[in-house]
Amino acid sequence: MTDRCVIHWFRRDLRLSDNPGLHAAAKTGLPVIPVYILSDWRGGSRWTGPKRQQFLCDCLKSLATDLGENGGRLVIRQGHAVDELRRLITECRAAELHFNASPDPFGKSVEAKVKQLCGEFGIPCVAHHDVSLHAPGEILTKSGDPYRVFTAYHRNWIEHPKPQPVEKPEPFKTPPRVKSLPLPDLKTWDLHGLTELLLESGGMAARARLQRAISGKIPEYQATRDLPAADGTSRISQDLRFGLVSVRTVLAETMKLHAASRAGKRSSVDTFIKELAWREFYFAILHHFPNVLHEEFSPDWRGLAWDEPDERFELWTQGRTGFPIVDAGMRELSATGFMHNRVRMITAMFLTKDLHIDWRAGESWFMQNLLDGEIASNNGGWQWSAGTGADAAPYFRIQNPWSQTARFDPKGIYIKKWLPQLAAVPSERFLRPPAEGKALAADYPMPCVDHKTERERTLNIFKHHRGKGSHTSC
Ligand code: FAD
Repeated sequence: MTDRCVIHWFRRDLRLSDNPGLHAAAKTGLPVIPVYILSDWRGGSRWTGPKRQQFLCDCLKSLATDLGENGGRLVIRQGHAVDELRRLITECRAAELHFNASPDPFGKSVEAKVKQLCGEFGIPCVAHHDVSLHAPGEILTKSGDPYRVFTAYHRNWIEHPKPQPVEKPEPFKTPPRVKSLPLPDLKTWDLHGLTELLLESGGMAARARLQRAISGKIPEYQATRDLPAADGTSRISQDLRFGLVSVRTVLAETMKLHAASRAGKRSSVDTFIKELAWREFYFAILHHFPNVLHEEFSPDWRGLAWDEPDERFELWTQGRTGFPIVDAGMRELSATGFMHNRVRMITAMFLTKDLHIDWRAGESWFMQNLLDGEIASNNGGWQWSAGTGADAAPYFRIQNPWSQTARFDPKGIYIKKWLPQLAAVPSERFLRPPAEGKALAADYPMPCVDHKTERERTLNIFKHHRGKGSHTSC
């Protein structure tokens, strides 16, 4: 009998089913230590906030229950991953370490140090691919370069055979001698401010959301996905973010729907699959061009003169710009930790093209408030909206918040849901700027800027910067 163990280091894969790292660890037949290492910053972070941290706490709670039912026990530690894993490897005489690889530069730099650590102990350190259907290096142009435009990436992506889910691991034991901290709560990071449950967490809730999407939403996706009042999207983004379900499982379930659908509905399913490809495209962009986290993807627009966040930024974050569709979106984000994709585009474009404020300020605000805050997709969405990203469309695509409302919320249903003070206002009034002195309601502000004027200003800023960008980064 050996008293050696194998470690599975949980990160953004908080589930048992279809978890390649956990599956491989359990397959060794050794006792498994499933560990989650909490970050040790306190008080605030540019990259997260109370809503997402609470969701993480709830995910860990249900993961602990699921592991208990499988014979194991979740071990919680807190601190720097390398230090904590060093301790754990020594304490439990670990024979192997498994984890599912991270898609972002922060995670990757820690992984490199963890690999070095395992080298010091002379034990295998196995990084499994999990977060996307295809690793970024799998989808390249004929000349072996990364794609810079989605359409061409997608044409190639769709042709690649897709991986299948792996089974749930066999039951395993976690040695009782391995100590654990209690499950975290917001106080762990000195955070506060949440009084109600925003969204049910855990694997069971995530699987139920996926099933609701498969049976009701995805068949109608093409017609309803752009209408924020319709609840026509899957609502699984936070589940993919925390790995409550795997993207392989999402695709496998979607493909079953595709096979069972009549021809007319198949295009809806295809459109949904294309959105999964957008997620992978942005992972690939971040992998090949990690500089996007601090500068514009397009070298042409590096050094562009963005305004610093000021009182207009405050109006935007609070949903008090006087543009109903923008304010409704920002209120939805504050209240729920979610914002509909169409409204994410409108609010992001408004901040960058109507208020001229640096997209990085908006990127950070979204990361601090979204339950699904995903560095790659969020950066991609912000740079797309700012006109600086991996996108074939030119900078002069500037959405007009009033005509966007006419197209996507013509009856003002979404607006009235999030701005109840406008409940009695006829919806036609949301489709154009109010006349001078004619506020939509006594307690609702007049528009903080004139869209036409700011559009012209944006065009001038971009035109004048042409040819002055920096082409020094990759
Ligand atoms: P569905 O429409 O049902 O799509 C299914 C899945 O496909 C989503 O869960 C998501 O994983 C993926 N997906 C859909 N659209 C996109 C897209 N445009 N880019 C990348 N992946 C996509 N998505 C995040 O997951 N995290 C973010 O932090 C994030 N920030 C964004 C910021 C901006 C400015 C913009 C414009 C978009 C952002 N998105 C982000 C993309 C998109 O808005 C969300 O994925 C989507 O709203 C989630 O809702 P859903 O699960 O119902 O999506």
